[in-house]
Amino acid sequence: MQTSKNKPNVLFDDAAACRELFESANDLIQSVNENGRFLYVNKKWRDVLGYTEEEASRMAFPDIIHQDHLQACFSLFQELKKGKSFDNVRTQFVAKNGRVIDVSGNISVRTKDGKFVSTWGIFREAVPHTEVEDTLRQEQKFSQALIDSLPSIFYVFEVPSLRMIRWNRALTHIFGFSNEETAKMSPIDFIDEHDKRSADLLIRNVAAHGKAAAELNVRAKDGHTVPYFFSAVHIGIDDKKYIVGIGIDITDLRKREMELDRVAKKLVRRDFELLQTNDILRIRDEQITKEHELNRAKSEFVSLASHQLKTPLTIIKWYIDMLNAGYAGDSLKKEKEYLGKIYNNTERMIELIDAFLNVSRLELDVFSVKKEPINLKDKMELILKNFEPKIKEKNLKLLRSYAKSNFVFASDVKMIQIIFENLISNAIKYTPSGGQIQVRMQKKGSEILIGVVDTGIGIPGDQQSKIFTKFFRADNASSYKADGSGLGLYIVKTVVEKIGGKVWFRSPASSNQHKNIGTAFYVAFSSN
Ligand code: ADP
Repeated sequence: MQTSKNKPNVLFDDAAACRELFESANDLIQSVNENGRFLYVNKKWRDVLGYTEEEASRMAFPDIIHQDHLQACFSLFQELKKGKSFDNVRTQFVAKNGRVIDVSGNISVRTKDGKFVSTWGIFREAVPHTEVEDTLRQEQKFSQALIDSLPSIFYVFEVPSLRMIRWNRALTHIFGFSNEETAKMSPIDFIDEHDKRSADLLIRNVAAHGKAAAELNVRAKDGHTVPYFFSAVHIGIDDKKYIVGIGIDITDLRKREMELDRVAKKLVRRDFELLQTNDILRIRDEQITKEHELNRAKSEFVSLASHQLKTPLTIIKWYIDMLNAGYAGDSLKKEKEYLGKIYNNTERMIELIDAFLNVSRLELDVFSVKKEPINLKDKMELILKNFEPKIKEKNLKLLRSYAKSNFVFASDVKMIQIIFENLISNAIKYTPSGGQIQVRMQKKGSEILIGVVDTGIGIPGDQQSKIFTKFFRADNASSYKADGSGLGLYIVKTVVEKIGGKVWFRSPASSNQHKNIGTAFYVAFSSN
């Protein structure tokens, strides 16, 4: 506060006017001497703090300072006495009635001849309560406007009381409950009956883990339900706990999910249909290929079979022609010889036709297995007996080597006959006169092992892999014996496998076609 000597100043020349100015000021004005005693306090000061002028004249500034600020005020006073002024001093006064008043103001110093005389303090109640309230209300309005602008629903409720504290307009608007109704409801009351347990769990999870989320169906006042995604957090303010959450309408999302699901199902069905079509096409292709293959095999079979039948037929016709033409003359012996040839070739034809029929039956799979107990040793002996004339004719030595076991085996008798006949007839056929045939039978564990071992022409090593192929005849066999169908071993293998057995052979691989190296054929049946 300064006076100007250059300009006339009416106010400061007039002490009464000056005092009136201080007295009518709306601020708390005080002047303190070097001992801290009040020299002057204005009306506002007296009104607010509740002391009379008289009382104030007997008081010092520490009498009105809140004890929390005394220390700071003493330090400040020391600085003031050194001539320093202070702006924006914040402190607390204590009124006569004990009321604590927040104040802020400026303190300047009056000096005379450079020496401290007194302080001038002008204070104002820092922020009046009503202003704080206004500000709070303002802020509340702002935050409410903010949460009301959210399209999702927003809510705050107290835990564990579940009392709704705050919510936005979307919540009342969407669910159709008024603010008054909402205030009386618990958050669970908004949830559809079926999801109430899940809602309860969500609240417990939020309380336990700080945050959680769940999809729940909400039931509006008019009864319609809406799927919502809720996400909530747990907060604590002072000693109170709250759950703050938002909910997002996921109707569209669900619809899209359903649509996606429908499309996915359709795709799967379509894929399945395509697979089925593919399967049908594949099966049809396979059938066509199979049919082609069968047709090809059939024609091949018919041509090979006709070719094979042609040889004995030609021979038969030739001898009949010779008989007719009288080549035998009167010779009964010749006639008998010709008839013998005709008979043998007829037999050969019957054998061939039998083989063809067996192949066709096997391939058509009309050969059904009729099981009955068969004594394999007896069966073998019966077959050997039938072949006795041929064995004798070729002067072959027949050896038997049967182990002392029971060779009764449940199987199809016709099939066993086919197997044995083919192996014995081959052994006789491919063993030159004077050779030897050995028939073996033994048991190895649960297996019955049958062997037909000869000292015949053998099977060349390079052709052994083809020996069970239909119509296959090894070179040495066809040059040694012209007649042969190449069907016997194919039939044997098919039949053996049909009744669950195994067939194989051993023949020392020799490059010398003219050496009798012998062959051993084996068949194994499992007796269980
Ligand atoms: P086929 O005897 O009518 O020619 P198989 O199917 O019975 O027809 O026999 C096929 C071929 O196997 C014979 O042509 C022959 O080359 C060979 N083979 C079969 N058994 C013997 C054997 N015991 N010794 C030598 N070769 C044999």
